[in-house]
Amino acid sequence: MSREELLAAAREVVLEGLVVSPWGNLSLRISDDSFLITPSGVDYKTMDSEDLVEIGLDGNIKQGKLKPSSEYQLHLEIYKARRDIRAIVHTHSPYASAFAVARKRLPAVIEDLAQIVGGDVEVAKYALPGTGVLARNAVLALGNKFAVLLANHGVVGVGRNMEEALRVVRVVEKGAKVFLLSTIIGGPVLLEPEEIQVMHDFYLNKYGQR
Ligand code: 13P
Ligand code: ZN
Repeated sequence: MSREELLAAAREVVLEGLVVSPWGNLSLRISDDSFLITPSGVDYKTMDSEDLVEIGLDGNIKQGKLKPSSEYQLHLEIYKARRDIRAIVHTHSPYASAFAVARKRLPAVIEDLAQIVGGDVEVAKYALPGTGVLARNAVLALGNKFAVLLANHGVVGVGRNMEEALRVVRVVEKGAKVFLLSTIIGGPVLLEPEEIQVMHDFYLNKYGQR
């Protein structure tokens, strides 16, 4: 079930153009002390459930024949820092990556982005991909929010479930596009931090069917 959910999510990010397979990676927490992650460099079209790798929160591989994603430390450090998070999606989507390469934070200028991310999407301090330094920098810049940009690299979305983590990377991509388009017609009007907080609290506690 968890394996199928992870594979389905991986196929969706490819279909939606959020990753150029096999770059990017996804994971799902499957217990208090372990998560499943996509293998490194395996095309999402051919990836199957046996290819996924289970990693413990101690950093050791618990199960799986293939090498885990080279960004497994990024996922591991986020799960260790954020007990509320059960799914992580890392993409190299083009509009969000434009902010990442310019090393400019993406302001939470539009309602859905403000609601789901809970503030501006910060750019983590640059570090080489696949390193513990990148993982630690990302955790610092993520804070209590739901998305972070990796300098000259891409974006990471986190969620309380896979559906939410997917929604985060989609909304960040859309928000980046809207921000850039608005610069052509005079530039965006920023929201006040208090307004963003109200919207995020609403999303977390009241939004939708409950
Ligand atoms: P993996 O294929 O090892 O997951 O790496 C892709 C990537 O996005 C590296 O940052
Ligand atoms: Zn990457």
